[in-house]
Amino acid sequence: EPSSTGSVLDGLDAEQRAAAGIVDAPLLIVAGPGTGKTRTVTHRIAHLVTECGVPPGDCLAVTFTRRAATEMTQRLLGLAPRHAGEVTVDTFHSLGARILREQHARVGLGSRFGIADHATQLAVATEVAGDDRRGRDLLKQLSRARRAGGDPQQPLPDGAQRYRAKLRERDLVDFDELIELPVTLLETDQQLAGLYRDRYRWISVDEYQDVDAQQYRLLWQLAAEPTGEPAGNLTAIGDPDQSIYRFRGADVGFFLRFQRDFPGARTVHLTRNYRSSTAILDGAQQVITPDSLVPDRALRAVHGSDGARIGLHRASGTADEAAFVARGIERLLGGASFHALDSGHVEDEGDQALGLSDFAVLYRTDRQAAAIAEALTRAGLPFQKRSHDRLADRPGVAELLAELRYVPACGDPHDGGSGLADRLRRAARAAVDRLPGADQATTAELHTAVDLLLPLAERCDGDPEQLFTELSLGVEVDTWDPRADRISLLTLHAAKGLEFPAVFVVGCADGLLPLRWPGDGDDEESRREERRLLFVGMTRAQRYLYLSHATGSAANGAGGSGERSPFLAELDASTSEWIGDPAPRRKRRETQLRLL
Ligand code: ATP
Ligand code: MG
Repeated sequence: EPSSTGSVLDGLDAEQRAAAGIVDAPLLIVAGPGTGKTRTVTHRIAHLVTECGVPPGDCLAVTFTRRAATEMTQRLLGLAPRHAGEVTVDTFHSLGARILREQHARVGLGSRFGIADHATQLAVATEVAGDDRRGRDLLKQLSRARRAGGDPQQPLPDGAQRYRAKLRERDLVDFDELIELPVTLLETDQQLAGLYRDRYRWISVDEYQDVDAQQYRLLWQLAAEPTGEPAGNLTAIGDPDQSIYRFRGADVGFFLRFQRDFPGARTVHLTRNYRSSTAILDGAQQVITPDSLVPDRALRAVHGSDGARIGLHRASGTADEAAFVARGIERLLGGASFHALDSGHVEDEGDQALGLSDFAVLYRTDRQAAAIAEALTRAGLPFQKRSHDRLADRPGVAELLAELRYVPACGDPHDGGSGLADRLRRAARAAVDRLPGADQATTAELHTAVDLLLPLAERCDGDPEQLFTELSLGVEVDTWDPRADRISLLTLHAAKGLEFPAVFVVGCADGLLPLRWPGDGDDEESRREERRLLFVGMTRAQRYLYLSHATGSAANGAGGSGERSPFLAELDASTSEWIGDPAPRRKRRETQLRLL
């Protein structure tokens, strides 16, 4: 970090510093994983506000998740403690909500409008469409239209119109409208758009490869001059090969056409990877190459020219695979790699010992976590799971929130978070009483839901409406704590942007990765995205990476065939090696010792 006399850019290498120093043109930073994109953009903002005289209030940084936003804020506070508090760091949805709060009357909303959770959306859609099934269809239709990048100014089909009108009657917007309403507002009122352009003179967007059509329109309104000319103030950062949200409407095309959208834009490539060992980085590049969107990318690993090759493992079922992960972690915790078991060779003697928080187990679908959790529990290894669903959609949460509306506040309405916490607990009890035949599982779900909601309730100062808003904005369930002394269980999607010394990617089987549901066609573009997902997963690893799969189709669920993932065929012996299960061998050695 900067010395008292140095620049904030001192924390960057020459390539990164050059990128961060470009302040007179639109800027596209395109670079592979671990090259310091996030680090560079954060330092660039700190540079602007501490060394270029840019008022911090003029700076807007946009990320995709709350966690990424929080992390960026914290890093900024470290780099520019006096200014960072005034920089706006938002997710796309919180940016939209911010604009709507300020302009609520313009779109027929009250000043304290709420954001509909999934259960409310479904209830409203059902009311409009007649029954539950048609209600679900209506919501699907709406989200399909959104994914297709529909023009929010085009008239909606009748059902959708009535659905939106009903939301409005209740002073609610849904999650997608948080972006679409501001887009319409700004596109149809250039004077208003001008106000926001003046406010946010400097805009940075991390993970730009995952922008969707509506988010792009919103950015365009904020970043283009009233004449339609793009302004010199947008910085987009990303990696097309890590674009993994096509199913949600993300379109890597926006990234690829940045130069056309913003003539005069500068493009900078970063080539030094600070994260992974050579074998891991090269292996990941072997896997992505057939479908890479970044031709001639040549990433070099700055650290760890040697180190373990990627370990490939075939297990005889998912339980065995999970046991392999648990034993592998135990083994690495004990300071031994299990690549070179035959020689009993221990690597990394000089290196720092690994702790629980240094491990991540990654998987394609949430349901794969159960087997891993079971094996880790059996081995007595503490873990935490991060999923990527919205908190509001978690089992028990909707029921709990529905009940909350009927549970009166008691005592002092101004008693803040503790009052609301108490209300949540009473709501859980009431829900258990009310649900006919609520079994143990339901009860447990409701209590888990209470635990999930408590830290929120704290933040909301006891205001349930605020809690509903927070819930709808919390894109993901994020009770995951990167600092906790636990192994992390993550979906590949949730692992985006993170890094760990040791990573296990499980379920590297055809049908799971690429994921294929029975009856699915073979869509080339989806398949490419699956390859990118594996690339994202592999590039989270710093020192150790294991890719495993289980044979036996039943074990793999979904469309799993039990064959290893075709993506692994790209790996060669310079980057990877097949490894066995560490445990039986160790046992044998112990037995031998005893015999001696
Ligand atoms: P991803 O594509 O996965 O989001 P990224 O390009 O955003 O990766 P960062 O997360 O910013 O990469 O950086 C990766 C790691 O490398 C971090 O631990 C970061 O602190 C470190 N790093 C990046 N640049 C430097 C540097 N110049 N000096 C030291 N460490 C660096
Ligand atoms: Mg990043």
